[in-house]
Amino acid sequence: MPRQSMKRGRRPELMWGVGLADSVARQIEEGVGPGFHVRNFPEDALPVARELEQDEKPSAAWIPWSVWSGFPEARRQEYRNQDETHRILIRDNDAELEMEKVLAEGFLTVVDLPLTRPKIQDVMFRAREVKSLYSDIYRMTEEIMLERELLARKTDQLLFLNKLLASATESLDAATILANAKNSLGLILPVRMLHAAFWNTGPDAAADVEIFLNGKMPPAVESAWIEQIMTSASSMGSGSVNGFQVSYTDPARRAEYAQTPDQGKLVVMPLTAGHQTFGCLALLCEPGYRLGKDQVETLRSAVNHVGLALRNALAFKEVKLRADRDGLTRLYNRRSFDERLVYEIKRRARYHHDLSLLMFDLDHFKAVNDTYGHKAGDLVLRKIGDILTTVFRTTDLAARYGGEEFVVLLPHTSEEAAWKLAERVRTAIENCAFHFDGRDFSVTASIGVASVEGGSLSASDDDLVLKADKALYQAKNNGRNMVVVSGQKTTSAQNAVQ
Ligand code: GH3
Ligand code: MG
Ligand code: MG
Repeated sequence: MPRQSMKRGRRPELMWGVGLADSVARQIEEGVGPGFHVRNFPEDALPVARELEQDEKPSAAWIPWSVWSGFPEARRQEYRNQDETHRILIRDNDAELEMEKVLAEGFLTVVDLPLTRPKIQDVMFRAREVKSLYSDIYRMTEEIMLERELLARKTDQLLFLNKLLASATESLDAATILANAKNSLGLILPVRMLHAAFWNTGPDAAADVEIFLNGKMPPAVESAWIEQIMTSASSMGSGSVNGFQVSYTDPARRAEYAQTPDQGKLVVMPLTAGHQTFGCLALLCEPGYRLGKDQVETLRSAVNHVGLALRNALAFKEVKLRADRDGLTRLYNRRSFDERLVYEIKRRARYHHDLSLLMFDLDHFKAVNDTYGHKAGDLVLRKIGDILTTVFRTTDLAARYGGEEFVVLLPHTSEEAAWKLAERVRTAIENCAFHFDGRDFSVTASIGVASVEGGSLSASDDDLVLKADKALYQAKNNGRNMVVVSGQKTTSAQNAVQ
């Protein structure tokens, strides 16, 4: 029986007596049996700090109440600090001792004099029970702490996902979604910058890429990021790139945006919908940052959610663009113009600012189509769209009114200023050289201007359009390629300078 022989060969377990009468110490030694050795400290040589701290700790210490109650509190504490040792209290006088008090004093159990073998055995048994209970509690506490830590992390992640989801679905604007996503990601990662790219691969397998940089940055840094993002895009299957367009999530320039991709931990994740990758997110975290396994999972699911929200936003933008704009010129369409006109007339009625309207019609445009073909005609219309977009402010509204007719609504613009603008556009159109199929040509436009100015009575939307239309008709009648202001001035290529 190797186990028993091993046990027999072991050193007896050390127990202390603290100021026990010799007879009591002997009773205990006999009571506990051969596996134990009782070292009794006489009352005049009780163990102090030095003994309490020595390497071989007693498994138990038997202490009479008469001795313990004579200890000052500091001394008691020194004993209590010896936490591998079970302290057993011997009630050697008539002290009234509640069990709570015994436990509060740091004793495992209490035993009355006189000591008998069964009593000692019972104490030992209870001590062992308590010991295993303690170690169970200790182990459970450790497990609970671990669980709590995991739970806290899970809670963080859930909070994060919740915040991210809420803020991602809050907006239909990609820049806002990205700004919100960066804030939410900041809850679980030390994110410094978040950039994104979306691509739209056309039938010719070439993509238009829309890049959202986190903010304005020095030109060299910006180039480094664009290069990095384009490389990622092409490795994620964007195909060859036609062109790209850069916007900024945050229009501000901040120090943190001046970091190149290699100045931190770069994480690039694809944005997918179905089986198609339509973009990517590039995160720059603090240098040397390592993502934990559960963080990768959370990040992946976060990016999926953000991806969906972004995809919605992009689809919304596209639908809105299609609904508001004219497909050929990308100018606003007739419907947008009508809506905006009603709005501007109402606003004017309240604030009495000037409001002007230009109405254009290309001259002899039918002849352009007939001579150079419909495609050449389309090319001209697209170019007119470009010219109008460049000449007017974003607060103005340039729209394609019909086939080769255009309107521009100019809030806060006087008749005089409107006429000057009309002249500028007329000249720009006249001076624009077109090349199609090896042939050169140019076109001209007639323009009617109508205005309502500060003090005048409110105009109705029909009034303004009718007046501009009449002026345009007059311009056509007077020889085309000219601007006519409703009711007065007439300018043309011949008498433009007044
Ligand atoms: P004017 O206004 O100077 O009196 O002459 P016009 O030739 O411009 O007059 P009209 O209004 O009769 O002709 C307009 C032409 O514009 C008819 C059509 O061929 C052309 N057109 C209208 N829409 C488009 C378009 O989307 N693409 C092209 N290529 N041509 C268009
Ligand atoms: Mg016409
Ligand atoms: Mg015309």
